Amino acid sequence: MKLRFLYIILCGTLSTGFSQNYEAKVDSLMNLMTLQEKIGQTVMYSGHWDQTGPFVGADNGKYIREGNMGAMLNAMSVKGTRDLQKIAVEESRLGIPLLFGYDVIHGHRTIFPINLGLSASWDLIMVEESSRIAAEEASAEGIHWTFAPMIDVSREPRWGRISEGAGEDVFLNNEIGKAYIHGFQGDDLSQPNTILACAKHYVAYGAAQAGRDYHTTNMGEGELRNVYLPPFKAAVDAGVETFMSAFNELNGVPTSGNKFTLRDILRDEWKFDGFVVSDYTSINEMIQHGFAKDSIDAARIGMNAGVDMDMVGHVYRLHLKTLVEEGKVSEAYINDACKRILLAKFKLGLFDDPYRYIDESREANTAYKPEFLAKAREIAAASSVLLQNNNKVLPLSKKTKSIAFIGPLVKDEADILGNWAAKGERGGKAVSVFEGVSEYLKANQILYAKGCDILNDDRSGFKEAISISQKADEIVLVMGENHHMSGEAASRTDLKIPGIQPELIKKIREANPNKNITLVLMNGRPLNLSDEVNLVDAILEVWFPGTMGGAATADLLFGTVNPSGKLTVTFPRNVGQVPIYYNMKNTGRPIPENNPKQDYKSNYIDVPNTPLFVFGHGLSYTKFRYSDLKLSSENLTFSNTIEASVTITNTGNIDGFEIVQLYIHDKVGSVTRPVKELKGFQKIFLKKGESKTVTFTISAEDLKFYNSDMIYGVEIGEFEIAIAPSSDFKFKHTFNLND
Ligand code: BGC
Repeated sequence: MKLRFLYIILCGTLSTGFSQNYEAKVDSLMNLMTLQEKIGQTVMYSGHWDQTGPFVGADNGKYIREGNMGAMLNAMSVKGTRDLQKIAVEESRLGIPLLFGYDVIHGHRTIFPINLGLSASWDLIMVEESSRIAAEEASAEGIHWTFAPMIDVSREPRWGRISEGAGEDVFLNNEIGKAYIHGFQGDDLSQPNTILACAKHYVAYGAAQAGRDYHTTNMGEGELRNVYLPPFKAAVDAGVETFMSAFNELNGVPTSGNKFTLRDILRDEWKFDGFVVSDYTSINEMIQHGFAKDSIDAARIGMNAGVDMDMVGHVYRLHLKTLVEEGKVSEAYINDACKRILLAKFKLGLFDDPYRYIDESREANTAYKPEFLAKAREIAAASSVLLQNNNKVLPLSKKTKSIAFIGPLVKDEADILGNWAAKGERGGKAVSVFEGVSEYLKANQILYAKGCDILNDDRSGFKEAISISQKADEIVLVMGENHHMSGEAASRTDLKIPGIQPELIKKIREANPNKNITLVLMNGRPLNLSDEVNLVDAILEVWFPGTMGGAATADLLFGTVNPSGKLTVTFPRNVGQVPIYYNMKNTGRPIPENNPKQDYKSNYIDVPNTPLFVFGHGLSYTKFRYSDLKLSSENLTFSNTIEASVTITNTGNIDGFEIVQLYIHDKVGSVTRPVKELKGFQKIFLKKGESKTVTFTISAEDLKFYNSDMIYGVEIGEFEIAIAPSSDFKFKHTFNLND
C-alpha cells in the first residue's frame, strides 16, 4: 500500500511541471513494479465472457487486486466499470488504472451504416463525424478504447467480414482508415470524449482462402506490401495508438506470432510506438494452427513476435514470468510492452483521474442526441448506392395511390443495424423502412406483406404478398440478408439473396409484368444479382443502414435526398468469378472484348469477364457529364507536380453530389502493374445545370510501388490517366515520368 502512495506522489510531482513527459513518469512507475506486475499490464480479460467460462466476475476482482490485469473488454456498464476501476485504483498494490475496451465499430448507441456501406459514401468528413459521435457515446459509458477501424483490404465477398471494412481498394482503405482514427482519437487524447483507436486485423486477414473466416492466407511479399500493408502504414502515420494482430496465418506463420510483420515491419520499418493487442485468443490459437506446442509455447511465441497484450487468452498471465526466468523471453520485451500500455493510459489522462470517463450524467445525456440521429440519417442516405434505375422509376411520388411494401425487412428493426451493434438497441430506437415511408405516405397508401422470412422456406406468405402487389400501383421489395449473415464467422459460398426471397421476387414480377418494381437491399457484402437485374426496375443498395436507416431509405425513395453513394467493392455476376476486383492485372492475352477473334482467350466460356456492377459504380437521379480532361503538362519529374483537371456538368434537373475518381495506369514496370489504380477522389456538389472544374495534383510519390527487391519507389516511363465517374472507362490520356 505504501508503495502505491509513493508512486502517486511521484506522478503528482512530475505532472506539476509543464512537461508532458509521460515517458519519465512511466519509467518511474515501472521502477516500482515487479516482473509479474509488469506482465499484469499485458493481460486483458473480458467483463462478460472469458476463455475459462461465461462470467468471471469474482476472478476479475482477484486478478485486478493482484495486479494481474491491465485491461478489460466488454465491461458493459458505467457502474460495472466504476466498480472494477475502484478495485484497481484502491485495492491493487500500485493502484494502476485499468483500460476498458469495446468494439465500437460503426457507432455505439446511434448506429451508422456498416463500414462497407459507410465507405460507399466516399465521404471522409462523414466517416470522421460518425466515429467522433461513436467516441462521444462510448466514452460517456467508460470506454477508453475501440477495436476499430478494420482496414483489411478485401476482394472476397464470400468473407463475412468484408462488411466491416472499406472494400477492395488500397487508396480508399488508407484514406477512410485515417478518417476513422482521427474521429475516434481526436486531437487530444487526454479529453474524456476521445478514445484510442486500433488498426486491425494485422495483417492480410481479408485474403482468407476461399473467403472462409480465419483461413490460411498465402501471398508474395510484393502483394503483401502493395495491397494489404499500406492501410496499416497509413494508420501508423495517422497516429493510431494501438494495433490488433490477426487470427490468420500468413505464408505459414500465424500473424499473432509473426516477427516479420510485427517486429521487422511494424516496429523497425514503420517505427510504431503504440501497443499491439492479440485478436481475442489468437495467441492460444497458434496451438491449433500447429505452430505452438502448448500454451507456454504460444505465450513465448506471441511475446517474442511482438504482441504486447494478450486478449482473454490467459497465457501471458500464466506463463510469461517463468519464460523470462528460464531465459526464453527477454525481460526487455516485457518492459517494452508494459511501457507502451502504461503510456497509453497516461495519454488518456487516467493517472490524473482514473474515473474521468465514468460519468453517469454524461452517459444519460449523450446517447441518441437529436443531432447524432440527424447525422445518422444523413450518413445512411449518403452511403446507399443506386445500382439500377431503369426508366427512372425512382424517385417515387408521394401522390401514388398505393404502394406495396413487401419483404422480410420492411418492418425490421433489428437486422437493419447490422453486426457489431450490441449497444444499438435492436428493435428499440431503430427506424424501420415501414416507419420511414410512413413519414411520406398516409396509411391508406401503404400496403404491406412480409411475404417470407430471410432463411426458412415457408411459402405461406407468398399468396398475400402477390395479392397486394397486384392491388398496388408501385411495388417496393425490401429484402436481403439478416445481420448474422455477415461479420465474423459468417462466410458464404453462395452470394444470392438468401432463402426463397429470389423466388418471391420472380413470382411478383410474373404477377405484375408491367408494374414498376424497386428492390431495396440490406446486406453486408456484394451479392450476385444477375437474376434480379432482369426482374426489377430499380435496385437501391442500402447495406445495413443503422438506427436511422429506414428514414434515410425513405428519403432516397421519395427523392428528398438524391442518391450519391458509389460501390467500394465489385459485385460479381456469380460466385465463380471471385476474386474479381477492378485493379487486377492483365494476362498475356489481349482483353477478349477487344479481340473477339483470338483463340485461347483468358476468359470464362459461360459468363463475361466483367462484373455485374463495377467498383465506383453508383447512379444519381441527375446526370453528370465529364468533359475536357486537361493535363497541365505531359511531363512529370521527381521534383515537379502536374495537374489533371476535368469539367463536370450536372445536366439533369436535380441538384446532386458526384464522386469524381482519378485513376492511373503504369504501363510498363519492372513488376507488372494493375490495369488501373485509384489515386484520388473528390466528392462535389453541383446544382442542376452547374459546371465545375475538378483538379487533382499528381506527383511522383503517387506512383510508387514495391518492386521485386521490395524497394519502394517509382519507375520512369509512360502512364495512362483518367478522371471518371467509375472504374468502367477506357484510358485516352497519357503522361510521362522523367527523371
Ligand atoms: C474479432 C475482433 C474483435 C475482438 C474483440 C474478435 O473475435 O475478430 O475484430 O475486436 O473479437 O471483440
